[in-house]
Amino acid sequence: MPEIPDLEGYRAYFNKRLPGLAVESAQSVIPWIVRMGRDEFESRMKGQVFQPVDRRAKYLLFPFESGDNLVVHSMLTGRFEYLQPKDRRRPKTAFIMHLSNNMDFRYFDDRNMGRAYLVREDEFAEKVPRWTEMGPDVMDPQLTERVFIERVKKMRAQIKSVLTTEKCIAGIGNAYSDEILWEARIHPYRKRTDLSEEQLGEIFRSIRKVMDWSTPIVAGLMEEKGLPTNHYRDHLRVHRKGGQDCPRCGHRISEITSGQRITNFCRGCQE
Ligand SMILES: [Zn+2]
Repeated sequence: MPEIPDLEGYRAYFNKRLPGLAVESAQSVIPWIVRMGRDEFESRMKGQVFQPVDRRAKYLLFPFESGDNLVVHSMLTGRFEYLQPKDRRRPKTAFIMHLSNNMDFRYFDDRNMGRAYLVREDEFAEKVPRWTEMGPDVMDPQLTERVFIERVKKMRAQIKSVLTTEKCIAGIGNAYSDEILWEARIHPYRKRTDLSEEQLGEIFRSIRKVMDWSTPIVAGLMEEKGLPTNHYRDHLRVHRKGGQDCPRCGHRISEITSGQRITNFCRGCQE
C-alpha cells in the first residue's frame, strides 16, 4: 500500500509537472474506481486545470481551478502514471486524462480496490467515506508530541496496531510502522498500555524522523527511475528484510506473518 513517503513522492513528482495543465479529455475506463457516472466524470473533467497536488493521510488530492478536487485512495495496488498517449495502456488502467501538453495522466489498479472521488471542497465529509473519522495526519504540524501522546493513550492494543489505526492517527501503514518502531527501538507487539509517555514521545519523534528521511529518497528515485509499478522500498532497514542482519546491532531480523501482513523487527535492539 502506498504510504506517506510514496504519496509525498508522487506529490513532488506531479507538482513539477501538472499545475497549470488542462485536461483536454478524460476517460473512466473502469467505472467503479471513479465513484461517479462515467459520462458525468468525463464531461466534468474536461477543461479542468490542475493546481498543486496535496495529500492527507493515504489520500492524494488533485485540486482544480474550478474548485473541484479529484481525491484518490489507491488502497493496495493503485498506482499513477505520467506518460505519452502512445505508451502501452496497462490492462487495469482505471482512468486516463489526456493533458494539454500532450501527455497522459493515468491511474491503474491491479486489484481494482482503489477509489477516486470528484468532489467540491464542501463535499468531502459527505462524499468521501471515512473522511471525517480520520485522525490527524501524522505530518500535520498541529499534531504536536503532546497531542500525539494524548491520542495514542486512548488506545490499548499492541503499539504497531495503534500506529496503523487511522482513526487514532492517519497515514502510517504496515511497512513504515515497522521502520518507525525499529527507529524508536520498541518491539511492535508491546502493548500500548505497557509503554511510558517517554517511549510514546520517542515513537512520535521517530515517525517524523523516518518520514523526513525516506520521503526525499523515494522522490529522488521517482525522478531518476520513473514512477514505480510497485514501490521504492529498498532503503528500508527492517521491513521485508527478514533473515538479514540488523543494520544497527547485527542481530538477525525477525519476520512474522499474520493474515497478509508481514511484520519485521529486531529482537536484538527492539524491546
Ligand atoms: Zn538490531
